[in-house]
Amino acid sequence: MGGWVELREPDVAVEEPTGPQPVVAVVGRPNVGKSTLVNRIIGRRQAVVEDIPGVTRDRVPYDAQWNGRAFTVVDTGGWEPDAKDRAAAIAAQAETAVLTADVVLFVVDAMVGSTDVDEAAVKMLRRSAKPVILVANKADNTAVEMEATSLWSLGLGEPFPVSALHGRGSGDLLDSILAALPEAPTIVEDRPRGPRRVALVGRPNVGKSSLLNRFSGEERAVVDSVAGTTVDPVDSLVDIGGQTWQLVDTAGLRKRVGKASGTEYYASLRTAGAIEAAEVAVVLLDSSEPISEQDQRILSMVTEAGRALVIAFNKWDLVDADRRYYLDKEIDRELRRIPWAIRLNLSAMTGRAVDKLAPALNKALASWEQRVPTAQLNQWLTALVQATPHPVRGGRAPRILFATQAGVAPPRFVLFTTGPLDAGYQRFVERKLREEFGYEGSPIEISVRPRK
Ligand code: GDP
Ligand code: GDP
Repeated sequence: MGGWVELREPDVAVEEPTGPQPVVAVVGRPNVGKSTLVNRIIGRRQAVVEDIPGVTRDRVPYDAQWNGRAFTVVDTGGWEPDAKDRAAAIAAQAETAVLTADVVLFVVDAMVGSTDVDEAAVKMLRRSAKPVILVANKADNTAVEMEATSLWSLGLGEPFPVSALHGRGSGDLLDSILAALPEAPTIVEDRPRGPRRVALVGRPNVGKSSLLNRFSGEERAVVDSVAGTTVDPVDSLVDIGGQTWQLVDTAGLRKRVGKASGTEYYASLRTAGAIEAAEVAVVLLDSSEPISEQDQRILSMVTEAGRALVIAFNKWDLVDADRRYYLDKEIDRELRRIPWAIRLNLSAMTGRAVDKLAPALNKALASWEQRVPTAQLNQWLTALVQATPHPVRGGRAPRILFATQAGVAPPRFVLFTTGPLDAGYQRFVERKLREEFGYEGSPIEISVRPRK
C-alpha cells in the first residue's frame, strides 16, 4: 500500500449552478437616469462599456448580484437622439428589452412626472406578460418622493421612489427586483478549499497503476486531514508536483481487483463513477497501440460529464519514428472533436514528462472555472457577429442579441437570439470563443435561448 492515505468520511456532492442567469432590462426615456441606476445596481464593479461612435449603445449587459443572487442587468442605453418619432422609438426599444428580459425596470423621472412618451412605452410594456417595476428616479428628497405617488396613474402599480445618484431607496428596489425574478439558482460559492479531485482512467494495461505508483513513490508530506475536505475511503491523496491531489477511486487500481475479477461492463461503470466524482480526468492511452474504440468511449464519458480533460499518451518510451507517424495521423482522425484537450507524451516507466502532469491539470482546471465578464463577452460578440453575421436562411437571419456566461465548471454560455441558430454557426461561435478566451483543457457548453 506504500504511502497511501485513506480517510473515512463520506463524500459530499458539490453543488453546481444550472441554467442561465435571469435578465433585468432597464427601459426609459433619455436622461431619466437609466445609466446612473445601472451603475448603482452593479455597484460600479465593471467599467461601463464605452460608446462606440456610430453604433447605437443598446442592450449592454452587466453582471450584478444582490444578497447572493446573480442576475444580468441590460442597460437599454440610448436610441438615436434624432429619431423622428420618439414615441415609436421608445416603444421599439421597450419591445426589444422585453423580448429577453425576465423583469423590466421602467424608469421615470419623478421630478418631471409622466410624459406622453412614458405613456406610449407603458402601453407596450403592459402588452407583455413580463413583470414591470416602476422606478420613480431622482426622488432625492421626501418632497419629490411624495410627488412620485402621482405616477400611480401610469397603471403599472406602486411607483418605487429611488435616487440613483445618491443611493436613496436602491436597497429596497434591489429587494423587489429579487422578489420579481424567476426562481433560479444562486451564486456558486467558492469551492471548498482542499485537494482537487482527479480521475485516472483508461482501458486495462495502459499504465494507470504504474503512473499511480510513481506518485506514491514521490509522495513526501502525507496529509491525513485537510480542513473542509472529505475524502472517500476508495480515494487517495497523493503529491503531484508539490501539490496534494485527491485521486478518486484508486482502490481498484491499487488492489487490482478490477483487473482480476471485473467484467468490462463493471470496469466501465467504475470509470464513469470516477469521472463523475472528479473535476478533471486524466485519460491514459497506450501510445504503442492504435487509439481504440474503448479509448474513445472513455474520452466521451469525460466530455459528456463536462469534466476538464488531460490526455496522457503513456508508454512514450515505446514510440519510434515509425509509430510517431501513424500516431499523428490517428490523433488527427480520432481526436478531432476534442482539439481543446491538453495532451502530454509521457512514460510512467521511465518518468518522462511526468512532471508536466501537475501544470497540465492546473491549466485544465483554470479553464474549467474561467468566467468571462458579461461586458467583455458582449464586446467581443458584437464585433464577431458584425464581421460574420449568421447566414440568411429563407430570407431571414436570426440575430444574436447578447450573451451571458451562465456558469462555470464547465463554462456554460447562453446566447439570447431572435431565432434558432444553424448548428454550423453555433460551432463557429464556439470556435471563435475558444480562440478569444482559451478554455484549453475544458469542454464548454453553449445553449441558445430564442425569444418567445
Ligand atoms: P439615461 O439617459 O437615462 O441613461 O440617464 P443618465 O443616467 O445618463 O442620467 C441623466 C442625468 O440625470 C445625469 O445628469 C444624472 O446625473 C442625472 N441623474 C440620474 N439619477 C439622478 C438622481 O437620482 N437624482 C438626480 N438629481 N439626478 C440624477
Ligand atoms: P493499468 O491496467 O492501466 O493499471 O496498467 P499497468 O500500470 O498495470 O501497466 C500495464 C503494463 O504496461 C505493465 O506491464 C507496465 O509495466 C507497462 N507499462 C506501464 N507504463 C509503461 C510505460 O510508460 N512504458 C512501458 N514500456 N511500459 C509501461
